[in-house]
Amino acid sequence: MGELGAFLKIARQNGLKRPVPERVNDFREYQQRLPVADIRAQGARCMACGVPFCHQGCPLGNLIPDWNDLVYRDRWREAIDALHATNNFPEFTGRICPAPCEPACVLAINDDPVTIKEIEVSIIDRAFAEGWVVPRPPSARTGRTAAVIGSGPAGLAAAAELNKFGHSVTVFERNDRVGGLLRYGVPDFKLDKAVVQRRVDILAAEGIEFETGVDVGRDISADDLRERFDAIVIATGSTVPRDLPVPGRELDGVHFAMDYLEQRNRFVAGDAAPERPISAAGKHVVIIGGGDTGADCLGNSHREHPASVTQFELMPEPPHERPDALTPWPAWPLIYRTAPAHEEGGERRFAVMSTELVGRDGRVAELHGHEVGPPPDFARREGSEFKLPAELVLLAMGFLHPRQVGLLQQLGVELDDRGNVRADNHASSVPGVFAAGDARRGQSLIVWAIAEGRQAARAADRHLTALDQHGEDRVGALLSR
Ligand SMILES: Cc1cc2nc3c(=O)[nH]c(=O)nc-3n(C[C@H](O)[C@H](O)[C@H](O)COP(=O)(O)OP(=O)(O)OC[C@H]3O[C@@H](n4cnc5c(N)ncnc54)[C@H](O)[C@@H]3O)c2cc1C
Ligand code: SF4
Repeated sequence: MGELGAFLKIARQNGLKRPVPERVNDFREYQQRLPVADIRAQGARCMACGVPFCHQGCPLGNLIPDWNDLVYRDRWREAIDALHATNNFPEFTGRICPAPCEPACVLAINDDPVTIKEIEVSIIDRAFAEGWVVPRPPSARTGRTAAVIGSGPAGLAAAAELNKFGHSVTVFERNDRVGGLLRYGVPDFKLDKAVVQRRVDILAAEGIEFETGVDVGRDISADDLRERFDAIVIATGSTVPRDLPVPGRELDGVHFAMDYLEQRNRFVAGDAAPERPISAAGKHVVIIGGGDTGADCLGNSHREHPASVTQFELMPEPPHERPDALTPWPAWPLIYRTAPAHEEGGERRFAVMSTELVGRDGRVAELHGHEVGPPPDFARREGSEFKLPAELVLLAMGFLHPRQVGLLQQLGVELDDRGNVRADNHASSVPGVFAAGDARRGQSLIVWAIAEGRQAARAADRHLTALDQHGEDRVGALLSR
């Protein structure tokens, strides 16, 4: 365990952030690491509880008290091994996980929890700096093949695990670069793309093949895939965005958040400017949707120096303290959260319904709305009607389900009531076809995507092992029975 009683004398120290006036002028990561002595002191605060509730808070079941203790004892080499035992990509979660482990920490009952996420990112960054993270290809190959469709965190984790088991893995990605939302959703100021590419390079050196620019279901049919591979993992994400069906939706200047975010990440990557650029520079910007995607639009807008930015949320403002009756410890508390982008400026408004977009010469110019009461009725508050200048409107109201036409239709997998792939224990209704990440559980988190990818890989590995035992060949052979 950490130092006996350290939690009584050492206060929680949060990670450091670059000053706002500096960081809004570039796209470099806003987070900075704590000095080694400080991070070791934070590790010392861990109480190594008999029942570590943080394990249950982390979807990966990360061995948190183990590596907290190893950091406290300055044994970083062992700490990275303990961390990699359950988490393929701690450099992603250590940067952008909302850390559901922390409110589940026993210290959080009446004190500040251990700064778990900060310790996690310090371990992996140190491991890369020391050269401890190197490609480790499997010692032998099984002769079995697996296709992973989608290269987001779920697809990458599934590929990494299947490759470790010795299967030959090909990852198909319809975009031009690997990474899914890590690449073209999450902005560089939260997760530098060099960090993503560094891991992709390691996976490639371990023997995973990446085929980018291939939209499976269009460029390759599901039948071709079945011919070539013994197992298929669907990790296509939840990509169909929720729309805003109000008058004026068709106006120029009204965009889905992802269209804007992808353009910004491509701009940072140095890609050629698109034909129809979406820009917040000098404009009155309105972001509809109060979640992570909305906050990323906000951060990107700040970096373009708009005239104003307002972010709307339909739900009422959450309480600022954990509501014990609703979400008691160790549950994830439903509380008011502030993303770093909110510290950088802009106005946040809760309990707001947007009702109309009004244009001038075909371009959006104004947003009309009113305030509402709490769910489920969202009753209109009389007299609360307002108009706001709006020259760029970004729709960030979440995602409905994966794209169903193409791959999913061709594979013939069953969908659940929400339109996601039905895959109990990660096995879909089609033998040999598995599913992981947002395509299965709906819009979620990086940490869940990695956990799902690992579990789907185990399910696919069981299937591949059974094929060997029964002398079966290819997914197609199973289907033709
Ligand atoms: C803007 C934004 C910011 C976010 N920020 C955070 C955050 O800070 N922290 C956090 O924990 N979570 C965050 N999330 C959620 C998180 O990114 C997702 O839960 C996670 O990426 C899901 O992983 P995935 O692998 O299932 O899907 P994705 O990351 O969506 O990857 C799916 C991939 O499949 C590809 N694909 C789809 N169909 C095909 C096909 N037919 N053929 C080939 N390729 C295909 C897509 O191009 C995509 O690259 C954010 C989400 C968004 C939208
Ligand atoms: S992955 Fe997320 S939930 Fe798990 S230990 Fe890291 S920060 Fe906590």
